[in-house]
Order: sequence, then C-alpha cells, then structure tokens
Amino acid sequence: MISICKFSGLRITFWLWLLILLVSSLASRGETQSSSSSRDGQRRLSAKGAEAEDRTIPAILVSDIHFDPFHDPARVQQLVGAPASQWSSILTAPPSPNQQQAFAALQQSCHARGVDTPYTLLQSSLQAMRTRQPDAKFMTVSGDLIAHSFSCRYATLLPGSTQSDYQAFVLKTLDFVIGELRASFSGVPVYVALGNNDTGCGDYQLDAGSDFLVRAGRIVAAGLPLSEQQQALKEFAKGGYFSLTMEAPMRDTRLIVLNDLFLSPKYTTCAGGPDPAAAITEMAWFRVQPTPIRPVGQIVEMERRERATSPTKPVRHSRWLSTECGEICRFDGLKLSGTAKPSCCSRRS
Ligand SMILES: [Zn+2]
Repeated sequence: MISICKFSGLRITFWLWLLILLVSSLASRGETQSSSSSRDGQRRLSAKGAEAEDRTIPAILVSDIHFDPFHDPARVQQLVGAPASQWSSILTAPPSPNQQQAFAALQQSCHARGVDTPYTLLQSSLQAMRTRQPDAKFMTVSGDLIAHSFSCRYATLLPGSTQSDYQAFVLKTLDFVIGELRASFSGVPVYVALGNNDTGCGDYQLDAGSDFLVRAGRIVAAGLPLSEQQQALKEFAKGGYFSLTMEAPMRDTRLIVLNDLFLSPKYTTCAGGPDPAAAITEMAWFRVQPTPIRPVGQIVEMERRERATSPTKPVRHSRWLSTECGEICRFDGLKLSGTAKPSCCSRRS
C-alpha cells in the first residue's frame, strides 16, 4: 500500500471524483531498478532489512488543489493575455491596492463558501511537499486542480467572453498548476487525473470525445514517458481516462486512471443533457485493461466519503469498483451495466 501524505497547505474540501488505481501490489513489486551491483548489495542486507527495503517507495498523492487565479481580480486580464509560462512572474508581484475588496466582492457574487488556493498557498504547499518528501519517486494528482465556481468567477470578471475563451483559460490554469507541480519535482513523473471542476464548460459537465479533452490530454500526457504518450493521448481524448506502465523504480506496475465524472448523479453534458454512453464506454475500456496479477484488493472504495460535518453523517452516494468483475456498484443498488456478476454488487450493497 502507498501511504498518503497530507499537506496542510492543500485544502481537501470536496469529493474525489477521479480515481487512480495502482493495479499492482507495491509491497511485492515496487523496488529499485535492478543492476548487478545493486543486487549484490541487496544480498548483503539482512532478510528483514531487505524485505523492508523492498516494500516502500516514497510517493506523493495530491488532490483538490483548487488553485484560484482570480484571487487578485485586477490581475486576471494580465493572466488572460499571458502564456502559462509567464504566470509566476505576474502572480509574484505585490497584491493590487484593491485586492481585498475586489476579492471579497467576487466571493459574494459567486456565493463562495470558502477561500480557495491562491498562488502564495500553492507555493508554500509545494515547498512543504519538497521538505517532507524530497525523495518522492512519483506523484499522483487525483483531480480538481482549479477553483470552485470557476465559471462564475470568470464570467464576473470577464463579461462578454466566449465559451472558447473560457475553455482556453481553464486549460491555461490546468497547464500552470501541473507545470508548477512538475517543476517542483524535476525528473519525478507526475500522473494527473482531472476532477469535476476541471472542465471547459462547468462543474460536473463534460462532453466525451470533446476538443477540451483532446487539449487537456496534451497537458496531462506531456509529462508521461514518451513510449506511453501516444496511447494516453488517444484514450484521454475519448473520456479523460488512460492507463500506462509506471516509470522506474516501479516495476511491471500498471497505473489506471479512471474518470468517474461520467458516473456521478450530477453529471451532464455541456449542453445539460444525460450521456449514459460515456460511462458505459469507459467501463468497457476498463474491463479490457490488463488483469492485475495481484490486485490491491477485490473492492476499492471509489469515492471518498462525503465531507462530513459530523463523523456520524451517513454516506449518500458510496460506490465501489470491484476489480473482480469490473463493475461499478452503487450503494443505492443502481448499476451502470447489466453485464457484471450480480454477486459483485449485491454483497456490498
Ligand atoms: Zn475538489
């Protein structure tokens, strides 16, 4: 199992809609790239020590960054006009004189319930990651890279913009955040999934096979091993999911990134309609992925528990993904597909 590192600087405030499955047991398969000298060194370790050495690979698992490029509203026009590569220099400048008042007004206009991650918090969080886990061998980012109410903030500050303008700004924000993560851990593979906020048309809205997914896929795939990029781009363009063989020091480990936005009760297309085919197509793809030699577990909790104001608050929409039969099981008994074994879901619901 991989232990999840929590960083106080990153606000984890929402549901996790995207799942990254490590479909292999790190305990048995994660080890440093072997060479004759390292193998000789390993033999000299005690059996217990060697077992411990073989068991742990440091990694960073990040979620729900919710970066807010609108935190200083007076700068937004500059960000719109600049490539993501220049955003850091814009965002490190001293705050605008009216930042507090303008941001408070924006929060009110968009009925914001909290303050998302401004640039300073993003930077301090990245620094905390580097300090606490400087030897991370890979990073996973499981979605929601951009701020809540992104479309409202954008429309309030940039009235008259087109849908295409909005999509371009979302993509640029994704590019910036992912670029910051990669730059902070140079040489470390960063595996990214998108979240329900990370779309070009609105929260929980996404079109399968859309131009947005093609372009977002290019950003996500840019940091993948060259040998995996083409296939990842092809798969991501269909529905925001992909799989690949993880880079060393992981060995023979397959990473499957699922987009469970399509499975959400809140999901709609950009036009506001249903599209059950999107989820069915994704599950069909999932079922033909290589079968894990040794699954982490038969059942993987697919969705984090709803943020509970009370520990006793019941979970409303629990789902599980059964790696035994490739079926999404919902707590309310609703199934997406009739092809799975009934026992997979029935014994859990
Ligand atoms: Zn979130």
